[in-house]
Amino acid sequence: MKLYNSLTRTKDEFIPHEPGKVSMYTCGPTVYHFAHIGNLRTYIMEDVLEKYLRYTGLAVKRVMNITDVGHLSSDADTGEDKMLKGAKREKKTVMEIAKFYTDAFFADCKKLNIKLPDVIEPATGCIDEFIKVIENLIEKEYAYEAGGNIYFDTSKLKQYYLFNNFEEEDLQDGVREGVEKDGNKRNKADFVLWFTKSKFDDQELKWDSPWGIGYPGWHIECSCISMKHLGEYLDIHCGGIDNAFPHHTNEIAQSEAYVGHKWCNYWFHVLHLNTNDGKMSKSKGEFLTVSLLEKKGYNPLVYRFFCLQSHYRKSLVFTYENLDNAVIAWEKLLAKIAKLDKNGEVDTARFEELKRDFVEAMDNDLNTSLGVTAVYNVLKADTNDATKLALIADFDRVLSLNLIEEAEKLNSAEEPAENDEFATRIEELIAQRAAAKKEKNFAEADRIRDELKAQGIILEDTADGTKWKRA
Ligand code: AMP
Ligand code: ZN
Repeated sequence: MKLYNSLTRTKDEFIPHEPGKVSMYTCGPTVYHFAHIGNLRTYIMEDVLEKYLRYTGLAVKRVMNITDVGHLSSDADTGEDKMLKGAKREKKTVMEIAKFYTDAFFADCKKLNIKLPDVIEPATGCIDEFIKVIENLIEKEYAYEAGGNIYFDTSKLKQYYLFNNFEEEDLQDGVREGVEKDGNKRNKADFVLWFTKSKFDDQELKWDSPWGIGYPGWHIECSCISMKHLGEYLDIHCGGIDNAFPHHTNEIAQSEAYVGHKWCNYWFHVLHLNTNDGKMSKSKGEFLTVSLLEKKGYNPLVYRFFCLQSHYRKSLVFTYENLDNAVIAWEKLLAKIAKLDKNGEVDTARFEELKRDFVEAMDNDLNTSLGVTAVYNVLKADTNDATKLALIADFDRVLSLNLIEEAEKLNSAEEPAENDEFATRIEELIAQRAAAKKEKNFAEADRIRDELKAQGIILEDTADGTKWKRA
């Protein structure tokens, strides 16, 4: 399999460090808020990568952290801690916030058929490991104490800027968003490993350390959690493209300083999902979550399908129009699958031939768009239905779109499709509104109309009763 590697900036043949086994690390969510569908694009594509590696017969061990401490408002170690900000916003404790949004993240993953990694470790569970690694870095003079904090000294490295797109000039104070002058730093690119002093509100969570009571920096957690579970050699490290710098650059710096050799061979970065007006945000504009899509009547798997239709190395624009186009394609695809006859025998020779299309697509830097096309090609192929169904089930081990189950729902009268449930809910509200109007409770009738409007549903009162449509 060929994978684009941000480190070499080429598509490289993927060769694991230990034959037959893959160690894979994923930067987990910062659990201060719900994940937006942009974050989830990254997790969907990483899930496809993991599942495809398994599909080819490799034994994958995948580890993910949960960032519940240390991620400041800017990735460059300045600003307020995101978790503390979330706790203040909701008037809860940091641990309550962490628990709530970790569970919400898992629930989103379930809806999107994202398999959870084999190991999931919250940063707050690994404080001893962080301290051990930081002590070692100080001993080797890769790290220093200044103004109460421990910093990594980037000048000790032969090469710091490994992903090339960034250079020292980018770090000039005030030029890059969120970078403020920190007089303690020996070099502009140096970053914090352990904080005991912050000019922002005090952390709720603090631990004793050889350098005083404090808390870890964000970058150290991923290095330590990865090494704790996957050892000194990592095959693939994943994340969204924004993580390449400074987060992943700093992870490489400190991990390689610690282990004394190359740490990770392949860096897999997913490009962003953007809105029409730019960056996806949790605070500005519509906060796009999986639950919001569900409320608007979309099956979460359609969002997964939408993501798979484009390559992970291209940025993707989210609009409801684009998603509606995915719905149309999805429904047509399911309708075709629903017509296939389960009876009959699988033609194994044709199965192997037709499978090649899919494997070729996915072997070529995880081309999921062509992977989905392979499903259409199977439907058009000259073979019996049983073989087609077997191939679709086989590809779906990786695509995870529940294609056969979803198609069966179309055929089954007892089990209403997701969209039918949605329609039933709307019809119920329309009936309640009609009853309210009859009782001259116009305030209640208006409230119901507004509630539906907030879900993107417009009502039209006609001579034949009230009709609804999507806004
Ligand atoms: P965070 O919870 O902020 O630590 O981010 C979780 C993951 O989502 C990281 O891998 C980020 O790189 C990724 N990410 C953030 N924004 C986007 C976006 N708009 N599109 C795709 N991935 C994103
Ligand atoms: Zn990370």
